[in-house]
Amino acid sequence: MSSPLHRIVIKVGTILLTHGGKELNRERMADLVRQIAVIREQGLQVVLVSSGAVAAGANAGVPYPSGKGIPVRQILAAIGQPLLMRTYAELFAPYGVAVAQALFTRTELERDGYLNARNTLLGLLEAGVLPICNENDVVAVAELQQIGDNDTLSALVANLVDADLLAILTDIKGLYTSDPRNNASATHVPVVESITREVENMAGGAGSSASIGGMATKIKAARMATAAGTNVVIGQGTVPDVILAIAAGEQVGTRFASKISRTKSLRDAWMASDLARGHRIIVDAGAASALLKNGRSLLPAGIIAVEGTFSRGDTVEIRAANGDAFACGLVNYPSDDLRKIMGKNSSKIATLLPESFGDEAVHRNNMVFL
Ligand code: GLU
Repeated sequence: MSSPLHRIVIKVGTILLTHGGKELNRERMADLVRQIAVIREQGLQVVLVSSGAVAAGANAGVPYPSGKGIPVRQILAAIGQPLLMRTYAELFAPYGVAVAQALFTRTELERDGYLNARNTLLGLLEAGVLPICNENDVVAVAELQQIGDNDTLSALVANLVDADLLAILTDIKGLYTSDPRNNASATHVPVVESITREVENMAGGAGSSASIGGMATKIKAARMATAAGTNVVIGQGTVPDVILAIAAGEQVGTRFASKISRTKSLRDAWMASDLARGHRIIVDAGAASALLKNGRSLLPAGIIAVEGTFSRGDTVEIRAANGDAFACGLVNYPSDDLRKIMGKNSSKIATLLPESFGDEAVHRNNMVFL
């Protein structure tokens, strides 16, 4: 964990953001906001994953239906999400930090949705804006759409933006050998080398009625994130300056070190999923050199052939004219469209296709060299 941090995803749960699951705790939020502003000043890119919409909605002072089922949670989330965002916007404003809202269901985090979300979040970061993510509770109901809890969402978002570190902040110090609230002999675990069955058993069930996830979903999120090359810290959000300490690499909470690099995990995913599918883009020498030597994006102008049938957001292999595969990446256009614009200047895309997804066939942000 010693390499310098560049991009961090911070997840804050309902329990931290509210007074015991009721109305937003503005003082607590202000303190978290201050810390995030400080680490941004230090040069870190930050994405926030924030719960609290349902709790904010329940305490908004508007009449709402009684009951606890999914429809009620959805109504409360619809009422509470703008209140949550307004509070963040107000608290970040004195630091000159603009915030953006990004709401996800499961489908947005797959294939072309993945690419759209990734490009948007990376674009926001490049523009210096702070993305604040939550599940789109208003529409997510069925198993297929629902992510279910924001611990899992935070791991998906960390993957989406290639975060170096995911910090999951909660109301306890991290992982204990058993639940410290009902077991006095429970001891704190500062470092987890690998997430074994024993570690999962330590985590037990859900935390409180106000929040969905407990330690179990946090461990699951840590497993997902570390498997994709992101280090994870589960820390106590009520400890003074905890975000500053985490960003400085100090030992706080429970740390989970990923054993693989992000690049390797992307390459492995590519090898596993798409090598066999024959999704290929063959590029001319000028494009190959622009990609390899100058870190440019792949433009349609440099493409001389497209092989296979693929959709926007699929992984494609990028080959030189002599057949050497030298990169892979997430493609911005489906194969049929790419055949129409290959060899052409990007300024022609708008006239050749009904819809333009930008100048690049494969953006450099979404490319890995082999
Ligand atoms: N999306 C929910 C909210 O904003 C929270 C989900 C969770 O706590 O994991 O209230």
